[in-house]
Amino acid sequence: MATTDVGIVGAGFAGLAAALTLRRHRHSVLLFNGGPCRNSWASEVHGYLGARGLSGAEMWRTACEQAQEVGAEIVQASIAEARQEGDEFLLKAAQGPEWRVRRLLLATGVRDSYPDIDNFFDFYGRSVHNCPHCDAYEVRDKPVALVSWSEAMLPFATKLTQWTRELTVVTDGRSPELSPAERAKLDELGIPVLTQTVRCFEGADGQLSGLRFVDGSLLLVQAAFFNIAHEFETTLAQQLGCALTEGECIQQDEHMRTTVEGVWAAGDVTGEEQLVAVAAAQGVKAGIDIYRSFPTPDGEPTPE
Ligand SMILES: Cc1cc2nc3c(=O)[nH]c(=O)nc-3n(C[C@H](O)[C@H](O)[C@H](O)COP(=O)(O)OP(=O)(O)OC[C@H]3O[C@@H](n4cnc5c(N)ncnc54)[C@H](O)[C@@H]3O)c2cc1C
Repeated sequence: MATTDVGIVGAGFAGLAAALTLRRHRHSVLLFNGGPCRNSWASEVHGYLGARGLSGAEMWRTACEQAQEVGAEIVQASIAEARQEGDEFLLKAAQGPEWRVRRLLLATGVRDSYPDIDNFFDFYGRSVHNCPHCDAYEVRDKPVALVSWSEAMLPFATKLTQWTRELTVVTDGRSPELSPAERAKLDELGIPVLTQTVRCFEGADGQLSGLRFVDGSLLLVQAAFFNIAHEFETTLAQQLGCALTEGECIQQDEHMRTTVEGVWAAGDVTGEEQLVAVAAAQGVKAGIDIYRSFPTPDGEPTPE
């Protein structure tokens, strides 16, 4: 089995940026794509300098083309197992095939949990969001719901007041995990908490007009944010023995190196700000550091 210079698991913006960088440094690259990247839900990507009016899917397609144009090979496979063998890494797909690589970048992102609301995906990424940094500006000063019931609810609601004071917390039938002091804080901020179960979202063409509750009542809003849970996708990192942080993301240094030599991490899985620009920047940093980890074509150490 031939050995490829670099294997990149995860073809989101972190993985693609690294693949582009490494191919431009003339290293062989296999980029494993195990499913849609997180941003593919976004009807429009916001806050990425130089890209305006592009959907997440359009931006991803262009990024794939750019990486492929310089020779990155995108393999449609989910990697189920990663193992170190000497100074190489063996990657195995769930479906069976195996690959050998000299360096490994984990750009595996996160797994989101979604509210259990029937027509959620008709609105997700259009007027139902999970990231205020990405999407709250578009609904500034508009009526907005926050679907949340966990301990993260109060900080999330407080954060949203930067954009709108017309905010209602909806716990979707759960008892909110709030201490009396936290409840008082929400009162002080003028944020009502509705505990009814949501039956469905109302609106057309992905644009939310309200939340319909099982008791028939309607909360008129133009957007909703949700904050339930998400997990860092660290299965492979754990198989390889990479240290995780207390927050369960992959621990990495300023060069995106993990605690296992020959393995780097980039993007959402590192626990940094979850933004396309950050994922892409980390992918580039990892790519440059991986290039530096190889000797020059004449066998000399690559200069910093
Ligand atoms: C709805 C939505 C809207 C957003 N809008 C914006 C926005 O407007 N602006 C902005 O800056 N950010 C936005 N974000 C955040 C942005 O999408 C993420 O920060 C960014 O996609 C992170 O890139 P990544 O490469 O780290 O992870 P991802 O893009 O999630 O890519 C990780 C990839 O790894 C794959 N993978 C995981 N495990 C394996 C495996 N074992 N084998 C093979 N493949 C694997 C996954 O299938 C996935 O394709 C949004 C996020 C969401 C959810």
